[in-house]
Amino acid sequence: MFEPSRLVYRLSDGRVVEPGCLYRLRDGRWAEPWPGGCPRCGQRFGPKNMLVGSLACLQAGGIHRLHTCVRCGHVLYTPPVAPDCEHPTTRST
Ligand SMILES: [Zn+2]
Ligand SMILES: [Zn+2]
Repeated sequence: MFEPSRLVYRLSDGRVVEPGCLYRLRDGRWAEPWPGGCPRCGQRFGPKNMLVGSLACLQAGGIHRLHTCVRCGHVLYTPPVAPDCEHPTTRST
């Protein structure tokens, strides 16, 4: 059975934190953690090798954060997309 390795989320100062929250950096700014790397191609993520987006969701706390790997195009959803997700922008009605 394939077990996907657990993603580690980091802040720009290197701390490992839980995804989906804002954290205060030492310089007083607020920052959102990002996944440590791409699970498909192994690229380490940083401001220059990922694209950050968002997707409105009626279930997953209102929004998914999207991190796209610029190397292989893999998209990570935070929180992960669930079977009961509802995404208004993808509906035809
Ligand atoms: Zn990748
Ligand atoms: Zn969703």
